[in-house]
Amino acid sequence: MKSQVQVLKFGGTSVGNGERIRRVAQIIARTYHEPAEAFPVVVVSAMAKVTDQLLRIATFVCTNELEAYERELKALKQKHFDAAEKAVNADEGRNILLKQLEDAFSSLEHDIANLRQAVETSTVQGIHSEEACIVPLAIAAIAAWGERLSIMLVAASASDIGLLAAPVREEVIITDHPILPVTHQSYGVAPGADPLPEETRKNAQAIISPLIEQQIVPIAAGFIGRTPAGFVTILGRNGSDYSASVIGAALDCVEVTIYTDVDGVLTADPRLVMNTRLLTELSYAEAARLSWFGAKVLHPRTLIPIAHRNIPVRVRNTFRPALRGTIVGPEGRQKSGAAAITVRRHLSLITVESTDLFGAPESAGQVFALAARAGAAPVAICSSSGHHLSFVVEEGAAASVVALLQHDMGDWRVRSRNGLAACACIGSGFTADPMSAARAITALARERIPVITQGASELGITLIVEDADSERALRSLHRDLIAPVIPLVRHTATVHEKKRGVL
Ligand code: ADP
Ligand code: ASP
Ligand code: MG
Repeated sequence: MKSQVQVLKFGGTSVGNGERIRRVAQIIARTYHEPAEAFPVVVVSAMAKVTDQLLRIATFVCTNELEAYERELKALKQKHFDAAEKAVNADEGRNILLKQLEDAFSSLEHDIANLRQAVETSTVQGIHSEEACIVPLAIAAIAAWGERLSIMLVAASASDIGLLAAPVREEVIITDHPILPVTHQSYGVAPGADPLPEETRKNAQAIISPLIEQQIVPIAAGFIGRTPAGFVTILGRNGSDYSASVIGAALDCVEVTIYTDVDGVLTADPRLVMNTRLLTELSYAEAARLSWFGAKVLHPRTLIPIAHRNIPVRVRNTFRPALRGTIVGPEGRQKSGAAAITVRRHLSLITVESTDLFGAPESAGQVFALAARAGAAPVAICSSSGHHLSFVVEEGAAASVVALLQHDMGDWRVRSRNGLAACACIGSGFTADPMSAARAITALARERIPVITQGASELGITLIVEDADSERALRSLHRDLIAPVIPLVRHTATVHEKKRGVL
């Protein structure tokens, strides 16, 4: 009997349809039967785009667009019933699954009715009423259904190929109570909650360990949790990677594998750059920096629960399971210049200036405390002098940061500039090579892309450019720092060559 546990997490595209779910089941079965592999605990995302659909349903309910809501719900059901047809071959297993899905959709409709009621009552009683506070929680409960549905599909498909597997219907992660917006103006958004490690540990061990003892593979829902009081919560958009590492830490796992739709962590987003390369190893610090600056392949919080315990994270391709992917761990790669280039878009540069000497230690603290009060974490801190401080925040938060700073910082001059993006060149050996920074700046200069400001660390350089220039900037940095693009030369045959029959 295997005593060690590993977490396998499958993302939305990996479970995007019935055939893909069958592939996932085969990967789980191979891991289960391979003696050298630790026992698999599986964490799954909702099928691709399903969380968006659920949030649209919630929005339509809030805005009373009933036709649109019904159309969306019908499409959602169809997607899952179609997937069930393909994911399970045996009639008996498929019928059980179809019945489970029917029941699940009834419960979803019950949650939708709860949301409708909370919206109606809050409209009558006012936006500060208790019901108004319940609206975002009711939306979170609806958003959670994507993962609740996909665990049924994956568990049924795994059982169909003879594996002992069971969906974990209870929420594994225990979270705090999310901070609720005062009003429910942003209907399409449900607030994220933070996991409580000790409570989650107890809960995970109580729910999952008995299954492992019976050698049954637990198929748990990513992204979702519940508060100690019993409210269903979510960990924030794209939070399934994070939930996998939270569950992994709670079970003292030996490794977390994030199965996705690319070969591993690449030198840039392959949707934006053509000739990316696979990074076989990365340090925690490099991977954290990469995800912070926009590499969607890993949620920025994924490493938090496990890095301090040296638990490695592997990123692999569900569609090419023979590849070993990227291993993220304490050591990382051999140190050399830039490992990867990323871009984080839709940012705003906030500059605070004062004619008084700004160097007083409390001034900078005050600025960031006010930014935090507006709900904004600085994405990058760019420059400071005795008289100014500038930092970058998400564009959506800029107006409230500026308003608070203007209100509280007396005669200081506060400005913001929207429409910016951060291009980050990341690698643990970046600063060891004196040419790295020069090459990065030159790459942008060659493309006539102005650098508006910049930040630097021992892991690389962050160049702030106009958002409109950001994709071109990413490609030119990748070309000059990582992988030159070799132009395809088209030869026009000369008359002489044609005569000789060369071409
Ligand atoms: P999943 O549904 O499996 O969670 P995501 O869409 O969240 O998958 O993340 C995988 C995507 O991340 C890839 O398809 C790729 O386009 C994108 N991505 C962005 N930057 C990188 C990078 N540096 N390396 C690999 N993938 C990246
Ligand atoms: N399904 C969730 C989302 O789309 C979580 C995830 O897939 O990571 O945000
Ligand atoms: Mg993801």
